[in-house]
Amino acid sequence: MRTTCIAAAVTAVLLGSCSNPNQDMNNPFFEEWTANHGAVPFDRIRTEHYRPAFERGIADEDREIDAIAHNPEAPTFQNTIEALEYTGALLSKVSGVFYNIMECDGTDDMLALAEEMQPMLSKHALDISLNEELFKRVQTVWEQAKANDFAGLDEAQRRLLRDRYEGYLKAGATLQGEARERWRAVCSELDSLTLLYGQNVQKATGEWSYKLNPDTDLEGLPNFYVESLRENDWKVTLLFPSYRPFMQYSARRDLREMLYRAYNTRCTSGQYDNTDIIRRIVTLRQEKADLLGYRTFADMRLTDTMAKTPEAVNRLLNQLLDAYKKAAVADVAAVADVAKRDGIDQLQPWDFSYYSEKLKTEKYNFNDSLIKPYFSLEKVKQGVFGLATRLYGVTFHKIDVPVYNPDVECFEVIDSDSSFMGLLYTDFFPRETKRPGAWMTEFRGQHINPDGTEQRPLIQIVMSFSKPIGQPGAEGYTPSLLTYEEAQTFLHEFGHSLHGLLTRCKYPSQSGTNVAHDFVELPSQFNENFLGKKEFLDTFAADWQTGEAIPQDLIDRLHRAQTYNAAYSCLRQLSFGMLDMKFHTLGAVADVTRTPAENFPQLADIEQFERDAMAPTKLLATVPGTMMCTSFTHIFSGGYAAGYYGYKWAEVLDADAFAVFEREGLFNPETAKRFRHLLESGDMIEPSELYRQFKGADPSIDALMRRDGILK
Ligand SMILES: [Zn+2]
Repeated sequence: MRTTCIAAAVTAVLLGSCSNPNQDMNNPFFEEWTANHGAVPFDRIRTEHYRPAFERGIADEDREIDAIAHNPEAPTFQNTIEALEYTGALLSKVSGVFYNIMECDGTDDMLALAEEMQPMLSKHALDISLNEELFKRVQTVWEQAKANDFAGLDEAQRRLLRDRYEGYLKAGATLQGEARERWRAVCSELDSLTLLYGQNVQKATGEWSYKLNPDTDLEGLPNFYVESLRENDWKVTLLFPSYRPFMQYSARRDLREMLYRAYNTRCTSGQYDNTDIIRRIVTLRQEKADLLGYRTFADMRLTDTMAKTPEAVNRLLNQLLDAYKKAAVADVAAVADVAKRDGIDQLQPWDFSYYSEKLKTEKYNFNDSLIKPYFSLEKVKQGVFGLATRLYGVTFHKIDVPVYNPDVECFEVIDSDSSFMGLLYTDFFPRETKRPGAWMTEFRGQHINPDGTEQRPLIQIVMSFSKPIGQPGAEGYTPSLLTYEEAQTFLHEFGHSLHGLLTRCKYPSQSGTNVAHDFVELPSQFNENFLGKKEFLDTFAADWQTGEAIPQDLIDRLHRAQTYNAAYSCLRQLSFGMLDMKFHTLGAVADVTRTPAENFPQLADIEQFERDAMAPTKLLATVPGTMMCTSFTHIFSGGYAAGYYGYKWAEVLDADAFAVFEREGLFNPETAKRFRHLLESGDMIEPSELYRQFKGADPSIDALMRRDGILK
């Protein structure tokens, strides 16, 4: 599954005792951050600063909301919709830091605080969304604007008004009496359950390890990986940089099986069991849809996307399934043939990566060990940053500002006209307190303040690459060397960060990556395309020891290897998308007083539910007792519920967009300028219209099929 995503926007919220005024004086959240373009003073923020800042942030926003709701003047777009854009500045400031640090440096203190605050933050968010006076004003502005054909409002304002109004409807603003109380209870329980689900996955992943015997257990493992194991006291773990290479290279089938089972039974039972949490989450989500009169949670969730309906989503997923299935079956058969040579008649899931890697090497004489020397992190960084310079003219300059961990670096991002665009923080290495995976997020977003000044963004990208071994210059030193896929992940998250950094919007809720969720992966996935291109590789890929440029022959093989197992990978993505849609199109809850499994018998056995949902895309043998949904954080603790399909949806777009660049010239300034406009526009323009402005036409599925080698 994709390990990349952008962190779900956190608009959360806390109440409690009065804070000590002496502590307040030293609390960095109560100061204006003016040094270094408003960089976060991480060196001074301590865990005890968060709670008082949350408390004051909530109190401030309560007052601001109250002033808007009880404004004696008649409601207008400016005094209501626009005013709402600027409430809760302190709360955003503290949430932007707290939740992002919790994800990448989630010490027990932070996790405990998050749990403690969740109910109060949820209550505050609900208080706003269920504020009747406020909703009446929003409704009045909406109805008057509609009656006047939205005269006097530009497109961005019209969209903002509609989104705000529909947001209220979807937040339960029109509910009355018992339904209203029930709504509150459901939302609050969902917040706790999704948080718990994510923490279970993080703990179950972090706590498991197995100590290998270096004399007997290393067969097949490449040197770079053996070195990293040695550094880690020979422990192999379920964190991706440890798990993934082991499954790819270990010749020890028994150990691969053990690891596979450990990985795929995370949170299926025991202390961190997520199965019942899943039942309750999907049932409560459906109940929300029921309360608002939507058929299913997916119907409710999809109204403000490009896809709009579950039918449109399923149509695309099935269209791709039809187009790719035959090729995917052939992909697996070819891998199974290689395994047969080792006497394996029934290819098991723990064999797939290993034999697939073997076949790939045979077929293309290409594997990650060959590419890694040319992909040292420093060189890839030059290449990735340089891509943005070549396309959009922006440059990156390392600056010395406080960071929350010594591994973190910060870069000043400057436009071609020398204006400041934002800060980019990079956090590249795994640690126990960090959620696995990769993502982009904002400590602070971009917008124009009511006084006309602009707030430029503070963006963060987080990844989990292998750490360098030893100290530079010392004997045995090896820098962080990336696999092809890791370099692709870097380009992906960097694409998101450009969306956040280049944005030029007026309103906070429309800027940067605040776009439809099936559009948000376009800038990131688009960026990945460059990695297969010689013109791009030539700008950075050189052996870290000799400085020798990546050989043409290797690039050719890499290019041919691009389509390797593309159909298999596509079906894997489709299987996750379909599972997500199945969980979120359950249909009405018949009786809320009964248990989820009584209402939905198909949920009684979660393992079976998953198996049924994935049956159309199934290519490998099923292993009883294993599941992926118990660690499917995208949909159960991230923002991708009924939205996982968005990766594929955006892939259709990104392949189509890149085909435009290939046609017009990979670094054609005019093409890049049109794409930059798309990156700058946030949610001010309808995404399908924004895309048409770039391409001059609607996207088609053909470019993706051609890129994957399905369409010749
Ligand atoms: Zn992404």
